[in-house]
Amino acid sequence: MPQDHSVVRLEDYQPTPYQIDRVSMAFRLDPMQTEITTTLRMAPRQGSNNSQALKLQGDEINLIGARLNGSALDASHYEATPDSFVLHKPPQETFILEFVTRVAPDNNTQLMGLYRSSGTYCTQCEAEGFRRITYFYDRPDVLSVYEVRIEAPKDVPYLLANGNLIDSGDMDTPEGFDTAQAWHYAVWQDPFPKPSYLFAMVAGDLARVEDHFITRSGRNVALHIYVEHGKEDRVAYAMDSLKRSMKWDEDVFDREYDLDIFMILAVSDFNMGAMENKGLNIFNDKYVLAKPDTATDTDYALIEAVIAHEYFHNWTGNRITCRDWFQLCLKEGLTVFRDQEFSSDMRSRPVKRISDVRQLRARQFPEDSGPLAHPVRPEAYSEINNFYTATVYEKGAELCRMLKTLIGDDGFKDGLDLYFKRFDGQAVTIEDFLASFEEACSVNLTQFSQWYRQAGTPNLVATYTYDAARGQMSLTIEQSCPPTPGQPTKKLMQIPVRFGLVARDGSSATFSGIRDAKSGSLIGGSDCTLLTLTNREHTYIFEGVSTDALPSLARGFSAPIHLRTNLTLEDQLILVRHDTDPFNRWEATQFVLMDHLIRQTRANQSSSIAVDQPVNAALIEALKTCLLDDSLEHAFRAQLLQVPSEADIAREIGKNVNPDAIHAARESLRQELAKALGTTLVELYQSLQDGGAFQPDSASAGRRALRNGLLDLILAAGEGTAKGIATAHYNEASNMTDRFAALAAMTLNRSTAADALLTDFHDRYADDALVIDKWLSLQASSPQEGTIGKVKTLMDHPSFSMSNPNRVRALIGAFAMNNPIQFNRKDGEGFKLVADIILTLDRSNPQTAARLANNFRSWKVLEASRQTSAERELRRIANTEVLSKDVADIVNRCLQ
Ligand SMILES: [Zn+2]
Repeated sequence: MPQDHSVVRLEDYQPTPYQIDRVSMAFRLDPMQTEITTTLRMAPRQGSNNSQALKLQGDEINLIGARLNGSALDASHYEATPDSFVLHKPPQETFILEFVTRVAPDNNTQLMGLYRSSGTYCTQCEAEGFRRITYFYDRPDVLSVYEVRIEAPKDVPYLLANGNLIDSGDMDTPEGFDTAQAWHYAVWQDPFPKPSYLFAMVAGDLARVEDHFITRSGRNVALHIYVEHGKEDRVAYAMDSLKRSMKWDEDVFDREYDLDIFMILAVSDFNMGAMENKGLNIFNDKYVLAKPDTATDTDYALIEAVIAHEYFHNWTGNRITCRDWFQLCLKEGLTVFRDQEFSSDMRSRPVKRISDVRQLRARQFPEDSGPLAHPVRPEAYSEINNFYTATVYEKGAELCRMLKTLIGDDGFKDGLDLYFKRFDGQAVTIEDFLASFEEACSVNLTQFSQWYRQAGTPNLVATYTYDAARGQMSLTIEQSCPPTPGQPTKKLMQIPVRFGLVARDGSSATFSGIRDAKSGSLIGGSDCTLLTLTNREHTYIFEGVSTDALPSLARGFSAPIHLRTNLTLEDQLILVRHDTDPFNRWEATQFVLMDHLIRQTRANQSSSIAVDQPVNAALIEALKTCLLDDSLEHAFRAQLLQVPSEADIAREIGKNVNPDAIHAARESLRQELAKALGTTLVELYQSLQDGGAFQPDSASAGRRALRNGLLDLILAAGEGTAKGIATAHYNEASNMTDRFAALAAMTLNRSTAADALLTDFHDRYADDALVIDKWLSLQASSPQEGTIGKVKTLMDHPSFSMSNPNRVRALIGAFAMNNPIQFNRKDGEGFKLVADIILTLDRSNPQTAARLANNFRSWKVLEASRQTSAERELRRIANTEVLSKDVADIVNRCLQ
């Protein structure tokens, strides 16, 4: 078994005994031996016990020298290892501690700390990368003001760091370097105290695209985006998104930018999506670069969202940061909520909500119901890198949304304003955050705070009856939350349930008031739209109901829950036709489709020659009506056409899952739908023909989404004439969205023309890594029998590289995440392939290897023989002699 991995616990939190208020750093850059001089101004923290030694963290640090108050430290006064520096008797008043360290950026394959990507020096410090540069209190509650000097040969023209540029110029070539090479330097100063995880330094020969933004108080902020030479023509959308984000944060949250300059660097080697370093965001280039013939509408929407997200961190994360990493959701949940709101304002709010909920259900729900389940604010971790999860980010955002629902828009604004005012410049906790709302709105959030502490997705069961004679509807809702690792029993939650009534005949239904059945007290009048659950069970009596009506519950997905109701299929079809809440209208469609899919899957599983069940005729009619309803947005109609994913079906079934039976059920449903909708699909498809130049706006993207969704369904009915339509769609496409959609539809629907088009696609875009990523992902996602062999072949393809996380995610990540039938193969070959890659990758990039290992999280819901294969591979990984803490943590938790 691997080494003992120490666990960090929330309850053990202690402030550091010393503060570091100033940090000066000087980087002398070299690919193999960059020398870094770090000067720390330190002092004992008031009120702390300072008899203890001073212990700073390191990670593979190569220490060249250490000085205290200007004098070299005698070896007897300290103890330095690659992982820590201990000063035995630190002074009891302000002192200066200085380190000289050396790192080799070119050998840094972990992409944490200082490394090079395509020749550009860059850093990644969150969560614990700064300690790979120098010894430090590398934790978020130590806030310091930084001044950074960068020295480099002049063939590295741009030298950047956080804050404002205060000095730059030529310098003598340092000793030991080629004197023929001229050198220069730059000095940056960041006036805002920040934790080390927000430190950034960049140096490279790059192209710079410039713009500016005038803040509402009239300050002119320079905006610079740095990309590789030749990619300047792909920055316009990112720059536009940045300016819109800055304006929106002023308008909606009263947050103004605070430095003279805001910079973004796009790099091709990056473990995550992007990083919000103060004033100098560093991005995975996937979330910056876009032009119509290389990026899809999805890419454009992601760029807009990620640019906004990182920018919004300037206030939610940077100005106010986390006290410790247990509070990660404090910055991430809130910032995801803010970027979701931004995208909703820029695009279609209902469609954004549907896609966010799809994502939550696809990524967070399986996490919450499996061995990796953890609270939004975890209480213990052994490797913090493994807690950058869907639970912390996306469920964390849902908690902010619920808070807003519970206290109202104005209350939410007041609470946040107080939070910004009170905690600016501090490192705080979830309790501090919630206290701001309690105080500003005079509410008690004690029960609500359980959402941060308890893992698991709560179940709500709602039962309604309608009494025509008395004009009353009775609605009983019961809550429960399943056990999760370490939390066998759960406390009751406060759950907001938005609702409305929908008359069976489609007319509007009204009521005069709502009473609590037990106490008889009035809960709301005729305008009430929100029920707040606090007990195990509530029964509500709706009085004066005007007509026979149905409840439409959890409108807009008002809480991250599983909802079961006694609504029948016929009732759901009424919601499909008449619900005025677009989210629930979509949800009802999904319900009816899911009902069919589960029955078909069970039939497939119990018989080798299962008969295809007929699709509900009323659903076909309702879908037809919606598809042709021009009052509905194109993008919304595209969502209605999307059948629940195989992962959705597996989650609903919950145990003894057979991915082959699910795949077959979904395929047959799509085929039946396509046949039944027949000419409606083709005629609508033809009416949406592309016209004019590509525009990335929401309405144009929606039209393309509907047209491409129609094409996909048309192909599901069988090749016939569809092959000609799809081939023309591919060849005549004027943008990547349409071309790739045709290629994907043909590949995933196993068209006979797919192979030739895959070759054509590769040849067209061979030099464009981000486009080739799509090509890799698509082939890895193919449900065909030969996909494993194909993935292995593609690993030898010149465009694939194990050292680039984007390539690994595109090929291997897509296989494990988007290809349930091949990853979960009965013969275990899918698990084996991914396990082999995890073990190889773990030696160079443990963080990316651990992310891949996450894909094993749902192995326990599979049917027995597949469980055995998955467990065998997990044990093989766990028993490997040398294993990173990152991978060991995920695998051991999966096995528990
Ligand atoms: Zn973030």
